[in-house]
Amino acid sequence: MSAMRHLLDLCKRRGFLFQSAEIHGGLRGAYDYGPLGVELKRNVSQEWWNSMVYQRSDVVGIDTAIITPPAVLKTSGHVDQFTDEMVDSRLSKERFRPDKAPALKLVDQDKVLPISAPDKVTAKVWEQDIRTQFAKGALITRKGKEILLQVERMEKDKIVLKKDTAAGTTTSGEPTDLHIPYHGYVDPNSNSPFLTESRPFNLMFKTYLDPIDPIDKVITTTLDAQKSPSTSDLASTRQLVDKTLLPSLTYLRPETAQGVFINYATVQRSHPHLKIPFGIAQIGKSFRNEIRLEHAIFRTPEFEQMELEFFVAPWQAEEQFVAWRKFRMDWWRYYGRNHDRIRERPHAQDELAHYSSGCVDVEYLFPWGWGEVEGIANRGDFDLSKHSEATGIKLQYTDAILMQERQVREKATGVKETSVEVLAKERFTPHVVESSCGLNRAMLALMLDAMEVVDEQGKVIPFPGESDNNSSNDNAIVSKGVRTIMRLHPRLAPVKVGIMPLISNNKDLVELCTGISQSLRQELQVNVSLETQSTTIGKRYYRMDEIGTPWCVTVDYESLQDRMVTIRERDTGEQRRVSTEEVVEIVRDGLRLHPRGSKQKTIY
Ligand code: ATP
Repeated sequence: MSAMRHLLDLCKRRGFLFQSAEIHGGLRGAYDYGPLGVELKRNVSQEWWNSMVYQRSDVVGIDTAIITPPAVLKTSGHVDQFTDEMVDSRLSKERFRPDKAPALKLVDQDKVLPISAPDKVTAKVWEQDIRTQFAKGALITRKGKEILLQVERMEKDKIVLKKDTAAGTTTSGEPTDLHIPYHGYVDPNSNSPFLTESRPFNLMFKTYLDPIDPIDKVITTTLDAQKSPSTSDLASTRQLVDKTLLPSLTYLRPETAQGVFINYATVQRSHPHLKIPFGIAQIGKSFRNEIRLEHAIFRTPEFEQMELEFFVAPWQAEEQFVAWRKFRMDWWRYYGRNHDRIRERPHAQDELAHYSSGCVDVEYLFPWGWGEVEGIANRGDFDLSKHSEATGIKLQYTDAILMQERQVREKATGVKETSVEVLAKERFTPHVVESSCGLNRAMLALMLDAMEVVDEQGKVIPFPGESDNNSSNDNAIVSKGVRTIMRLHPRLAPVKVGIMPLISNNKDLVELCTGISQSLRQELQVNVSLETQSTTIGKRYYRMDEIGTPWCVTVDYESLQDRMVTIRERDTGEQRRVSTEEVVEIVRDGLRLHPRGSKQKTIY
């Protein structure tokens, strides 16, 4: 079983994540977070907020509207340019993004192109489609659910297939069709090169703020348009429909960032102590009509973002970009355990937005490969300039200290110094360094990072694909005695302490457990679980390990006499006898960013 399957099973079984509306058949790409999932998600976002806002004096928070007027997104470029390329597979009818699709796979010394159908019946239908429509006259065989095409050669943008000489021409006597266009990608599921041309697709969800059903307006406008020859063609009718709907058109925001840009001036005015460089942080939902939903909560139409827009003077932008990259990578390394699974990938020149002078993706090594969890970009003054141009409102900044700093820099770097008179009048449009992290993706990455499967001796069993010799892993992962430990950072763990009476139905033991739970809840405001199932203590410990609970406390008969209990640590399995008061102190200390005596280095 793959790591992802194992995690999703666990998430469903233990109440982290459920398919939304499951009892009504479910909705693709929509997920509900159960009691443990909601805690983990809140903890991840709280740790982000903690590091971005509470631990700094130069960042404040904001929470802006999701429903966004077209003017904002027209100005930001989203209405015209927030598109992905989209391609359809002619065989499977699957739709996908070419930039995320794999390259063609050939076998048998690059002489055979295998296309995998989901089953034998589909393979027969596809074979027929290829023979009659997509590669007439090509040499084709079928083996179970695989269709095998013989390849003559590869050219720069073409696959040239071998001709079926035995068949003469095609079965229908039509000319052969052996040159298949190839743009460097194939259908990700089947390896099929039979695709439509790629076309752009805008990812934003439209909605209409209007008590009248927009469909009624579409119908009426279309019927009216059909009455006149000058408006009855498709393009004119569409224009009239768009015009009718425009007054009520709004969008669900595709990112939280624009809410920050349009509030730059109001935030700065209401918080005059905020001097550049300063930032505005926001956590909230965003919506994208993604062409392909994938890997559970990795890519969904509705997701949450944790974004920071950091406003800087133009001459500070580069060094702030470097500083924020480090700050964010340190954050990832602090909460993640496997540092070799997190990396920075700088964008190539042709990936950069035209206004951006630098961008890196923070990527995590998911079971299916490296995937973006966060983008960090040096966006220049594009955002504020555009909103300023569109509204006529000046979004500029100056202050004396900053100008002095500029003078000092100019002196130090030997560039021609700007005169004091010019500096006194100088105002600039702030540049922006952005950090944009997906909350759901971060949660998925952190769970996968924390998850370990161990055997009875506590030895880690790698998932298939994680070790060189993994032929028997699949069975190993599900065999008896094997258990899962979620080694989440204590601050992320959905349940901080599991409290359990040795005998689950003993009234006195349960009462003492309840007392300890209450003091933990009241003193530390943390999520505590009273584990009173009638199973062995060992099984209850393992259940807690599986959901990442860092501490378990067991109350036994002796505890009733001496108020001493057993505290067990998830990661070491170490058990100690401590007083009930000490339990609170151990947990309090363990939940500090830097616990006393901790081996973890202070890194952010
Ligand atoms: P991708 O290339 O994976 O589509 P992107 O470059 O479009 O991502 P950004 O616009 O930079 O993503 O958004 C910032 C972050 O928001 C991403 O790093 C990711 O963590 C998150 N994110 C973006 N789209 C989605 C989605 N559909 N579902 C879940 N998270 C998303």
